Amino acid sequence: MLIFVLNAGSSSLKYQLIHAQTAEVKASGLVERIGIDGILKHEIGENKKITFECPIPTHKEAINLILHTLTHAETKVIDSIKEIKAIGHRVAHGGEYFDKSVIVTPSVLRKMEELVPLAPLHNPANILGMQICQNLMPNTPNVAVFDTAFHQTMPEVHFLFPVPHEDYTEHYLRKYGFHGTSHYYVSQQAIKLLGNKRNTKIIVCHLGNGSSICAVKDGKSLNTTMGLTPLGGLMMGTRSGDIDAGVIPYLMDKKGMDTHQIIDYLNKKSGMLGVSGISSDLREIISAASEGDQRAQVTIDMMCNRIRKYLCAYSGLLGGADAICFTAGIGENSNLIREQVCANLEFMGIELDKEKNNLLLPLTREINKKSSKTKIFIIPTNEEFVIAQDTYNLIK
Ligand code: ADP
Repeated sequence: MLIFVLNAGSSSLKYQLIHAQTAEVKASGLVERIGIDGILKHEIGENKKITFECPIPTHKEAINLILHTLTHAETKVIDSIKEIKAIGHRVAHGGEYFDKSVIVTPSVLRKMEELVPLAPLHNPANILGMQICQNLMPNTPNVAVFDTAFHQTMPEVHFLFPVPHEDYTEHYLRKYGFHGTSHYYVSQQAIKLLGNKRNTKIIVCHLGNGSSICAVKDGKSLNTTMGLTPLGGLMMGTRSGDIDAGVIPYLMDKKGMDTHQIIDYLNKKSGMLGVSGISSDLREIISAASEGDQRAQVTIDMMCNRIRKYLCAYSGLLGGADAICFTAGIGENSNLIREQVCANLEFMGIELDKEKNNLLLPLTREINKKSSKTKIFIIPTNEEFVIAQDTYNLIK
């Protein structure tokens, strides 16, 4: 069954046309700069890549363009949009309403509207994506898959912030966590690699532009590093991650920033970009460090230290770990970061095999020494496949 997976952002749309049973990706792509000018990057299979620039004033034109590209001329992979049996939407924030994926109904849309204050940039774009799909394909069901849902199993002791309790009961202030679809997929793959044993302690390190770590106990999220918003936790490409809250008024005062500006600063100008002054892209920072750039080296060391801190903290929370999993752009591809993160953790039973770690293979694999008590896995994430599967299971 063919599922159209859509991840709608404020000025961009990521999509895949994917076969839910076989995971075959018929086409995928990205529309960027919606409302500015417009660019479509479309891929068919592994080899054929097309870039198309044209005015894309709104999300509606963007989705129309994608559907046209899927069904017409040399980019065509299906004869008609009727071959799309359902649409699976990646949704940023499900709050406490959604602990699993749901078919989109008017009541689901109303709840998502209510959650907009928790995800002011992302949820409105997700809602818009759903409404446009309902409009363009009125007979095709839509399913919402929430990035927060997997973390709804976190117990209160892990999700509450140490502030007056009424902030939770009245204002829903708590840790929600994100990257749930990825943490779910990777931890499930790890459980299979561990022989489907019943009680498992797994730590998933999703390290990409946005990064988070999740402690997964018996297949359920116990704690994760992102918080009320994706700004919490690790140092990321452009996000600061955890900082002393006192930094915020201090910087606002020193730099004359308002609330919007300071949040923008911590989300878009900090992290690896801010510290290195070079880029948010780790490859460029590694390259600068190898040429002797001190700040680039400090950036790498800071990022790894923060990952190690959470790795050890979560190992403590879980009472040890059966497996540590690396995933996403950095986790899957950077042997250097994996080596630095795992260094000197033999006392915790974590022993990396450097040779296995250095092999450049885009595949799920084990990279620990035979003697390591904790397995170390590289597991390429596949969020779109989880969205397609959830969508299929709900509508079949
Ligand atoms: P997003 O969160 O946008 O999905 P990705 O998961 O694609 O991000 O990860 C992007 C990050 O992965 C970038 O910092 C990029 O530099 C890094 N990355 C990708 N390939 C490599 C590599 N071979 N070595 C080091 N870093 C890499």
